[in-house]
Amino acid sequence: MSVTNDERGSEMKSPEQETLTCGKCGSVVEKTYDFCPACGGVFVEHVVCVHHPHEEAEGVCVICSQPLCKTCGLWINGVFLCEAHQEYEVYEGMAKVFGLSDEVQASYAASRLKQAGLHPFLYQRKASPISLGGPDYTLFKASGEYDGHIINEIKVMVPCQEVIQAEKILTDLEILK
Ligand SMILES: [Zn+2]
Ligand SMILES: [Zn+2]
Ligand SMILES: [Zn+2]
Repeated sequence: MSVTNDERGSEMKSPEQETLTCGKCGSVVEKTYDFCPACGGVFVEHVVCVHHPHEEAEGVCVICSQPLCKTCGLWINGVFLCEAHQEYEVYEGMAKVFGLSDEVQASYAASRLKQAGLHPFLYQRKASPISLGGPDYTLFKASGEYDGHIINEIKVMVPCQEVIQAEKILTDLEILK
């Protein structure tokens, strides 16, 4: 076996050495990443599309982590997504798994996701969008669903990389159909 333990126990490095800033979205991410988990931008060279081995990857789908070429993926609001995941609302590295108006069930869903080791975040619009500060307002504006009536939707969001896991858990619980 060629496994070394030398790499372990090296948590003492300073943050400057451990991180880099994404040139596309400005997110600060760990240097060990090959792509930006917030926007899907590729940091390393010679990454090819999973469907087209001769095409350079344009980005990595932030939901399923597949590197894809221009034909197979798309930049939507600055986030790279594959065809299957283009409908997702993505905001600062978080994606909406589902939305509902029942606060109790939303908290239940979040607590089950937490138990499974995920990092859910409940986003609730309590006030009129006009009174919300910048980023909050942008989130709802980006969702394109504001019609002046849907005030109480609670968005269950998880980090993009946890979406597939979260959906499986919620489907098993029959929260998500
Ligand atoms: Zn980025
Ligand atoms: Zn995808
Ligand atoms: Zn492709």
